[in-house]
Amino acid sequence: MSTTESTTASTTVSTTAPLRIAVCGIHIESSTFSPHLSGAADFDVTRGQALLDRYDWLGSPWAAEFEWVPLVHARALPGGAVEPAAYDAWRAEIVQGLGQGRFDGVLLDIHGAMSVVGREDAEGDLITAIRSVIGPEPLVSAAMDLHGNVSHVLFDGCDLLTCYRTAPHVDVWETRERAARNLVEALNAGGRPHKALVHVPILLPGEMTSTRVEPARGLYARIPEVESRPGVIDAAIWIGFAWADEPRCTGAVVATGTDRAATEQAARELGQAFWDARDDFAFVAPHRLHGRVPRRGAEGGRGPAVLHQRLRRQPGRGRRRRRHLRPGAPAGQARDP
Ligand SMILES: [Zn+2]
Repeated sequence: MSTTESTTASTTVSTTAPLRIAVCGIHIESSTFSPHLSGAADFDVTRGQALLDRYDWLGSPWAAEFEWVPLVHARALPGGAVEPAAYDAWRAEIVQGLGQGRFDGVLLDIHGAMSVVGREDAEGDLITAIRSVIGPEPLVSAAMDLHGNVSHVLFDGCDLLTCYRTAPHVDVWETRERAARNLVEALNAGGRPHKALVHVPILLPGEMTSTRVEPARGLYARIPEVESRPGVIDAAIWIGFAWADEPRCTGAVVATGTDRAATEQAARELGQAFWDARDDFAFVAPHRLHGRVPRRGAEGGRGPAVLHQRLRRQPGRGRRRRRHLRPGAPAGQARDP
């Protein structure tokens, strides 16, 4: 808690300034196998009070004593890689906003599977830009989709990272609230939480990892017990994102806590459980393989080969979407369940 003092002619009055938390993020899941590019027009962008209005827990007693500072949040439905100009503009806006004053924390509201044309680790680039302006001291808490990726750069730049625990996702807002509450509690406690990352070298599509069926159901069901242990703040399992061709795409487990040994044990255990279940994941719905999309100019193809696939309506999705796969790319479903 920072304190400022003002002096009048006769008395000295101490006032305690609230801790300040910036709120920002760019939220999209990008398939790098799609020729489509996601531009600024594909995003819903919120700033100011409209950004704060996204979070109904801001009025809760645990949040009310902090000053939440909205910067910018851009969110799009799943699409292709993001046009660099759009990404660069939002990143610059976030950096500029963070440079306007002192911040004690940052709530980073992201998906974790954004691709930007020409970049291999977009969220890593974003956290690097954020740290370049706020420095190493403020705590950063990231709320993510379990289909996102946790690169070493992103992990290093954040102090708290968590993600959804359900697929189909029914705990989106709960996850963001948890990320915010963990941040607030860490700031109140002082110091810096311990964190542990285990990369699990498995890359599975969402169609094989519904948390409503085994083995993902049992795997994610372990989280509450692990998280309830003394010294553990949060435990999270990322399935990773199979529809981008980037080195960072893989399963991951992150645990955060107040006790180093308990935190590392939590991450190790869940990482081992994920690895041990690797052969048990199977498609959760009827499916068939489409083979490979013919390459342009080969196999008799004369123009771009495009595979259109109608996708089932998903919870939270208001419309059906089509996916376009690049010629030569492995074909398959490309939805985010
Ligand atoms: Zn997802």
